[in-house]
Amino acid sequence: MPTYDYECTTCGHKFEAKQSMKDSHLTDCPVESCPGPVKRKIGLGAGFIFKGNGFYITDYRSDSYKAAAKKDSESAAASTSSTPAASPAPAATPAAPAKTSGA
Ligand SMILES: [Zn+2]
Repeated sequence: MPTYDYECTTCGHKFEAKQSMKDSHLTDCPVESCPGPVKRKIGLGAGFIFKGNGFYITDYRSDSYKAAAKKDSESAAASTSSTPAASPAPAATPAAPAKTSGA
């Protein structure tokens, strides 16, 4: 359910309201002593789904983003490839025949 940001046009009170898309938006200020109508601020609640990943949008080309992305991929690769198997791949030691140096 999206969260909408409202702001009172009379007293400036700001608040959020979780509403379904099909709900009619609020019109009355929740401040009891304030008769003012509120306006909905489009795009702040529903549009910023990436709020948790702030760097995703703002620091798109920054070093911190690259570092974070790199770290993510590395940790992901590490977690997926960290099998408890105790059998290392026999790749580093080619069984080269010992050179028969002329004796
Ligand atoms: Zn108000």
